Amino acid sequence: MENNKEITKEYTFPGEFKSAIDGKCPRCRKGNMFNAPLFSFKSRKMKSHCPHCGLKFEKEPGYFYVAMYVSYAFVVAELVTACVATYIFTHNLESPWLYLTVAILAAFIMAPFNYRYSRVVLMYWLTPQFKFREEFFLREKPE
Ligand SMILES: [Zn+2]
Repeated sequence: MENNKEITKEYTFPGEFKSAIDGKCPRCRKGNMFNAPLFSFKSRKMKSHCPHCGLKFEKEPGYFYVAMYVSYAFVVAELVTACVATYIFTHNLESPWLYLTVAILAAFIMAPFNYRYSRVVLMYWLTPQFKFREEFFLREKPE
């Protein structure tokens, strides 16, 4: 019986990918990394520490500069997608202004997404120190 309980517990841990999408702390997967949902005006505000387990998100000064490289990869992928989509829908090969407008619009619209998920990708998959640890998920929130 004890054993069965353990197994059901295992399955209640949130998945890595879902936690990343939700912007949860990479260590406990419970605390939010950001103060507000993705498309709100306050979405750029990031918490300095995890409210649940106390993990310091900026583990060293300049840590989030690395997120710029991730963000750069995102932007390149989005611009290529936006321009290919524009070609498929309009078959326009004459006007560079059309593509320029689409590219600028895409960059603006995707900016909050890039900002947030470049950091999420950095912390979840490019920082080996930030691994999920069950004990932090199970631990009660400190008062
Ligand atoms: Zn945490």
